[in-house]
Amino acid sequence: MEKILIVDDSVIQASQLKSILEADYDITVAQTAEDGLRYASSEDFSLILLDVIMPGMDGFTLLKRLQDEIITRSVPVILITSLSDIENEQRGFTLGAVDYITKPFHPLIVQARVNTHVKLYQYRRQVEQQSMTDQLTGIANRRRYERYSLKKWKEASRLQIPFSICMFDIDHFKSYNDTFGHPAGDKVIAAVANILSTNLRRTTDFVARYGGEEFISIVLGDDAHNTFEYIKQIRQKIEELHIPHMPSVSQWVTVSAGGVTVIPKSDDQYSTYLNIADTMLYDAKRFGRNRVIWFGDDTKMWQ
Ligand code: GH3
Ligand code: MG
Ligand code: MG
Repeated sequence: MEKILIVDDSVIQASQLKSILEADYDITVAQTAEDGLRYASSEDFSLILLDVIMPGMDGFTLLKRLQDEIITRSVPVILITSLSDIENEQRGFTLGAVDYITKPFHPLIVQARVNTHVKLYQYRRQVEQQSMTDQLTGIANRRRYERYSLKKWKEASRLQIPFSICMFDIDHFKSYNDTFGHPAGDKVIAAVANILSTNLRRTTDFVARYGGEEFISIVLGDDAHNTFEYIKQIRQKIEELHIPHMPSVSQWVTVSAGGVTVIPKSDDQYSTYLNIADTMLYDAKRFGRNRVIWFGDDTKMWQ
């Protein structure tokens, strides 16, 4: 069921809208613009119904904030206005609203407008999905990773749950290409991606192709120890593919991985932890490859 966010300080108005839509949609109600912004940036809504007049932050300010954020920018916003409020409608369209609904509500009109915009959004999302997929491996590409990581980072910060970043890099891959050729190298990248993506355990586990022979994983809600164990298993599964390498270099194709687990504090920067994961990967390479090094709970864990 597609999710809709209603942002309205009037409880009565919000529950009217909810009762019109709840048979077809999963509805969340925010009573302030601040709450609306928080929900919108941490959950996947297919549409936002936004009251223009609210105490504190008003609907226009919220609309502008939503447009400024990469995560919420693409979610369609329908404004709720009074019948005579043409000026507000114009201002709303200028700020990026897709439509408006006037009070009092006519259920069929509300449903029709909402259905139209949700359908358009679904279609756009499908096209976008294709542009977020890596061609060679079929897994998420870097663009999708950028969005996902940002969104989940905020979610972890809000819910105070552990957030892990893991970077993988195929070992001695240059010499693999040099020995077996680039097309064979491509097959190896696809095989590694396949292990990574088929071993995701829950809906929030995420993996993307980060660059040429590099991958990145995001794990939510698991502590450092568990995530470290999980990533070690993945490393092992890749080794157990038993893809022959050049014997003088390595018996099989392997990967190195470096990661970090943190419960993000409000002033923590994502990039700080991405750098830590990268440093752990670098250490895994330095200390002999085909291993996992993890940083969490102020300690470093080695494989
Ligand atoms: P290390 O163990 O330190 O990671 O050594 P490495 O040789 O893997 O390191 P490096 O990062 O220098 O080499 C990565 C190689 O990956 C270089 C490049 O030719 C190859 N590569 C990058 N993208 C692709 C790709 O899409 N297909 C193929 N076949 N090779 C790629
Ligand atoms: Mg590399
Ligand atoms: Mg490499």
